[in-house]
Amino acid sequence: FWVGISIGGLSSFYSELMKGLGAGGRLWELIDRKPELPFNEGIMLNQDAFKGALEFKNIQFAYPTRPETLIFQDFTLSIPAGSVMALVGPSGSGKSTVVSLLLRLYDPISGVVTVDGVDIRQLNPLWFRTKIGTVSQEPILFSCSIAENIAYGAENPSAVTMEEIEKVAEIANAFSFIQNFPKGFDTLVGEKGVLLSGGQKQRIAIARALLKVSLALDAENEFLVQEALDRLMEGRTVLIIAHRLSTIQNANSVAVLDQGRIVECGKHETLLANPNGLFSKLMKKQSFIQNTGDQFREHFPYR
Ligand code: ADP
Ligand code: MG
Repeated sequence: FWVGISIGGLSSFYSELMKGLGAGGRLWELIDRKPELPFNEGIMLNQDAFKGALEFKNIQFAYPTRPETLIFQDFTLSIPAGSVMALVGPSGSGKSTVVSLLLRLYDPISGVVTVDGVDIRQLNPLWFRTKIGTVSQEPILFSCSIAENIAYGAENPSAVTMEEIEKVAEIANAFSFIQNFPKGFDTLVGEKGVLLSGGQKQRIAIARALLKVSLALDAENEFLVQEALDRLMEGRTVLIIAHRLSTIQNANSVAVLDQGRIVECGKHETLLANPNGLFSKLMKKQSFIQNTGDQFREHFPYR
């Protein structure tokens, strides 16, 4: 079947990217970015050889609106293929900007972002975006059936089988609530459809992301779906903007960002062993406020 929206059409592409960044209402970011990418140019990496090793090398970056303010002066970060890295840091430290550079909402002034050693500017943007899964706080669902919403994640949505859809729904812990709707996977969502809870939307978004090879995951309220995320991350290269302890503990490594620099990087336990480190300080704040959403926001406001 066909999903009923233009896959790879600019508007859907960008609205999803913006949602992926959790950038609700920040449309100006989009307006202010460089002229459109040459969507159908560039190389596609060999599917079988694709590993997903991710590197940011000596990145210098300033937003076009504030060229005098360097967000990154010499930012370097390397995420081995198949590993999960949690990126943590105070508000304004540059976490979302890292994701923007990966998604090519912006390109660096100097330095490169590479995937399997290839500069992402050389890659076909349409192909590349199918390799990036994003799960955001408020996933975007379209006014069509649940099955179609999930299939939209695939490179070729019309080729996705019902079996595959059910499988990813199961992994995303969405299967049972979907089955409980009278029309199951044919249930319409959106304006004319059923009202879904935030958690249910998120699970559908995860099922959708499962149909891709995820490189980046900006899962700002990942606690809703920790178990599904664990499964989603298996065998994939994942960069999570992490706020929650459980996600951070489960990551292969944690990179701590402060004012555009990685100030600490290592395993969760290793970083905690340094009581004067920024990570320990952030974690202290967090455990203090763990179960109180509002205070949590004060220290880690969603941006
Ligand atoms: P974080 O996600 O860690 O909170 P951001 O990447 O959003 O940090 O922001 C890093 C810095 O870049 C902040 O100083 C922020 O004010 C600035 N910034 C973020 N987005 C923009 C933008 N679109 N234009 C100009 N400055 C921005
Ligand atoms: Mg942010």
